[in-house]
Amino acid sequence: MRLSQMLFVTLRDDPAEAEIPSHKLLVRGGYIRRVASGIYAYLPLMWRVLQNASQIVREEMNRSGAMECLLPQLQPAELWQESGRWDTYTQAEGIMFALGDRQERQLGLGPTHEEVITTIAKELIRSYRQLPLHLYQIQTKFRDEIRPRFGLMRGREFIMKDGYSFHRDQESLKETYAVMYETYSRILVRCGLTFRAVEADSGAIGGSGSHEFMVLADAGEDEVLYTEDGQYAANAEKAISQPPPAVPSTTKKSATVETPDATTIADLVACLNCDPSQIIKNVLYRAIYDNGTIVLVLVSIRGDQEINTVKLHNELSRLAPDYGAEKVLALTVADANATDWAAKPIPLGSIGPDLADDYIALNAAISPAFLRLADQTVVDLKHFITGANQAGYHRVGLSWGKACAKPKRVVDIRLAQGGDRACHDPEQTLRSARGIEIGHIFQLGTKYSQALGATYTSEAGEEHPLVMGCYGIGVSRLAQAAVEQNHDKNGIIWPLGIAPYKVIIVIPNLNDESQVAIAHQLYEQLWAAGIDTLLDDRDERAGVKFKDADLIGIPYRIVTGRSLGEGKVEVVERSTGRSQLIPVADVTGEIKSWVSATLDIAHPAYPLELPR
Ligand code: ATP
Ligand code: MG
Repeated sequence: MRLSQMLFVTLRDDPAEAEIPSHKLLVRGGYIRRVASGIYAYLPLMWRVLQNASQIVREEMNRSGAMECLLPQLQPAELWQESGRWDTYTQAEGIMFALGDRQERQLGLGPTHEEVITTIAKELIRSYRQLPLHLYQIQTKFRDEIRPRFGLMRGREFIMKDGYSFHRDQESLKETYAVMYETYSRILVRCGLTFRAVEADSGAIGGSGSHEFMVLADAGEDEVLYTEDGQYAANAEKAISQPPPAVPSTTKKSATVETPDATTIADLVACLNCDPSQIIKNVLYRAIYDNGTIVLVLVSIRGDQEINTVKLHNELSRLAPDYGAEKVLALTVADANATDWAAKPIPLGSIGPDLADDYIALNAAISPAFLRLADQTVVDLKHFITGANQAGYHRVGLSWGKACAKPKRVVDIRLAQGGDRACHDPEQTLRSARGIEIGHIFQLGTKYSQALGATYTSEAGEEHPLVMGCYGIGVSRLAQAAVEQNHDKNGIIWPLGIAPYKVIIVIPNLNDESQVAIAHQLYEQLWAAGIDTLLDDRDERAGVKFKDADLIGIPYRIVTGRSLGEGKVEVVERSTGRSQLIPVADVTGEIKSWVSATLDIAHPAYPLELPR
């Protein structure tokens, strides 16, 4: 392609809307244009990047044995009502764009496709002989994100590869899951990204059924905790660790002491001159279940530790059946001024694990007893400090027993943090890094097949729900993440695998006929050798062209400049800035060998088949 014939407009200044480098550079380089909040046009250069990334995804998915298809973006509300997600997605979370047609039927724009694919599976899969089966698509998704930001990183319209697999049992699902783990790793390697696969939260389902593929970058919205030995990596939402040992308490005699105005752990440490690990802090949450039941949750955890609300939410979801409910709709820290559930003023800041149930107002919608949850960190504490259930007072030197009963439900609801000791090896400490979630693989089980009645007949002639897995990659997010990871002060440095063009030929002086002639000759040779090449034949100063070439990040720049006198051109590698003079006749061969050296390493030619 010739730049003179392209819609090629670069900007000198950072766009006001952009906060992170990749967003700034993609706008400045003429890759994307914002149309509305979270809605972007992919201009020609960007579209080539997205197509390159999609092609890598497609090749690896096909290699794994999955089959590409294309599902509708317009989805009838009925399918979502059947799975029970319509109200949550259109109202509670509000992530789904809903609309009506002229017959006043309700439709939604697909934020994801479990409902559609499971319905198709229900209609077409009959027998175990058809299993396993894996279908995927690469398509635009719509999500009404509450805070669209960072350009393509969190858009309201974005490109995703989503795949869904169907199995007769958990074992078969695990096999495909392992293949997907490998497939995703290969996709990211071929796209030139540095990443980490981490254990991810899989909601109330739990287990090790989910991994996220995180591209490491400071702008990442997620926190990743990992150990240097490579044995452990998890999303901080899900991570486990060993807390530091508690500092033994020296106050062995139990007493109730006045702690005026001490409502936080820091206040209490200052007031009682103690270590935070000697305190049991008690946090009161208010959970609302989908049947309207309100449950007051009293969480006890060691004072130097934090509560992981994702783990807490999962625990409450697991307990939903105890309250005749299916899921948690909302979870908030209880308000000190609450009037809707408290029978009398709550001594918040001074509550203990044994706060009496008679603080709860008697009301049909409210569970009459606190749900008391204790984190593992409080179980073995002795002579601890905790609230006296009386404003302005705490108990010291207290131990579990008659005076204060230990909560019966002990669960892990602790937030693991960088610096904690690892569970698999206490010699290893957890390290923290920021990550951008690019892919997510998930063992769904029978959640959707049961809701939608998708079954198959086993060898023994019995009907069973299909066991499912789902696998997503944010293709547009991936492309931007590549820039976030690969840029310098001059612009983008595209990894070869997804660069829009591999080479840009710059003609410094259009009035010099030999410069123009050699440039055209190389341009044709390179294309003939299968190397996508740009020709900067614009009537611009050489300096402007060099700057633009750096900004748009094409891996190799050929300059048909002064060295032509010796029959050579200058070739500059964008990533290293390394420049060399190469005889015109050798240039195409040289570049071809460099390109294949990189791409072949990233693309080992061994087959990976979906196990049957
Ligand atoms: P997030 O936690 O970032 O909101 P998610 O967990 O909701 O993402 P999934 O439903 O797992 O996302 O979707 C699969 C992939 O799609 C994600 O791993 C991510 O790469 C991409 N993705 C999700 N939401 C967006 C978005 N708003 N814009 C761009 N890409 C997205
Ligand atoms: Mg996810």
